[in-house]
Amino acid sequence: MARVPLIAGNWKMNLDHLEATYFVQKLAWLLRDAHFDYKHCEIVLFPAFTSLRSVQVLVEADNLRIRYGAQSVSVTSQGAFTGDVSADMLSQLRCSYVIVGHSERRKYHPEDDANIVDQVRAVLAAGMQPILCVGESFEERRQGIELEFAVGQVHDVTRDLNEAEAAALIIAYEPVWAIGTGMVATPQSAQDAARAIRAHMRQAFNDTVANTVRILYGGSVSSQNAAQLIQEADVDGFLVGGASLEVEEFSKIARIT
Ligand code: PGA
Repeated sequence: MARVPLIAGNWKMNLDHLEATYFVQKLAWLLRDAHFDYKHCEIVLFPAFTSLRSVQVLVEADNLRIRYGAQSVSVTSQGAFTGDVSADMLSQLRCSYVIVGHSERRKYHPEDDANIVDQVRAVLAAGMQPILCVGESFEERRQGIELEFAVGQVHDVTRDLNEAEAAALIIAYEPVWAIGTGMVATPQSAQDAARAIRAHMRQAFNDTVANTVRILYGGSVSSQNAAQLIQEADVDGFLVGGASLEVEEFSKIARIT
């Protein structure tokens, strides 16, 4: 079964709503100019919460095929949780995806596996798809246990999901040592991790789930290395950080797939 590649831009805490609006207009223009085929590659942007509404209005007014989502979500649906944003609020803005468990959230916020499981459930219950981030630090790689570590993170978050929920997941393999460092994983090691994660989904669920779930690579992806990485059989796209902030560079990555 062919999986449609997905190229996601994780803007993190960058680009205000005016810059976001400019970016989306220019990206749409660049892709139109290049006769980009959205049926064969999905483009998703992850702006800051404050830009989501502007991006939504633009996408809907201009009937753009660019999708968007949020970088995190609250595990609760409403109430006295200062600073939080619920999954329903995001789905009302017609977000398609929510990034869950990014290593920066695990590091700078108290997001452990239990919280990440609850985020996954909240996203699914609101009719969106979670992009679950996993990946080893330099220390696990040094010890040679990177595959067990990443697969273990997938296992811990997905073990109580049913098959339909598991099939709705997207998994981003993002080795922490590669994020924002310029040290990209080799195509072979991205493929090894993606294959191991897919094998786990096959064993824990079934062939349909394993063949449906898209597995992205993230960590210093750029237009210089994307073409090689996407050749790998189990790498279905990218979660791009730094290189997604520059619209020409991001559109080059999108056009590589
Ligand atoms: P990077 O970030 O592309 O800047 O390494 C990737 C990510 O954190 O998702």
